Amino acid sequence: MLSATLRNHLLDRLTPEDRDAVVSAATPFEFELGHVFAEPGDTVAYAHFVLSGIISAVADMQDGRTVETFMVGREGVTTPGAINIPVRTYSRLIGQSPGETLRIEVSRLRALCDERPEMRAVIALYAAGLQGELEQSGACNALHRSDQRFAKWLLRCHDRLDGDTLHLTQEYLASLLGSQRTTVNEAAQGLQKAGAISYSRGRVTILDRAALERAACECYPNGRRSSLDIPKPE
Ligand SMILES: [Zn+2]
Repeated sequence: MLSATLRNHLLDRLTPEDRDAVVSAATPFEFELGHVFAEPGDTVAYAHFVLSGIISAVADMQDGRTVETFMVGREGVTTPGAINIPVRTYSRLIGQSPGETLRIEVSRLRALCDERPEMRAVIALYAAGLQGELEQSGACNALHRSDQRFAKWLLRCHDRLDGDTLHLTQEYLASLLGSQRTTVNEAAQGLQKAGAISYSRGRVTILDRAALERAACECYPNGRRSSLDIPKPE
């Protein structure tokens, strides 16, 4: 059984019977920072229900630049589309913050969803929320300043982690945000001056969440639909 401190919000939304069916078919999996779950083009073998930590999907460009396209924490599961058909990954899936998952073979999860329509509906609603976030991110990346996106990104991490401190190098932050290292540094200094965070040697501590919310662009949920809010099936 899952301990009280290791919870996945998506599993919590399932009926007790459906939840038990997933948990008994899954195995615990620990991952470190930088662990590669899948490379672009890989056939997805496992779905990971995240219990702690964050898994990021990172897109690679031909010139070597990278950018995070979405993240999955304890609110969700990796590659939810695999409940319908076998899928390949478009992005690299990596451990952005170390943690633990319950992993289950996607063929097994698909079979469970075939037998259990309520389970399929809950995971499909999560997938719809994730799709909504991706659409918003497309607009955000084109229109909003990098300091606003940085603040949004920190809030999204803070929502998914215990505690107020994130361990990230400037290079890694830049690669996740698709920005230059100097841009990330300027954004971090601005937030530090505003008293929102402290930042040193790859350690970001969130000091004033309200200030961070003011600094973020409109895309930070504030009531918007996101993968963090799984609505009830209609
Ligand atoms: Zn935005």
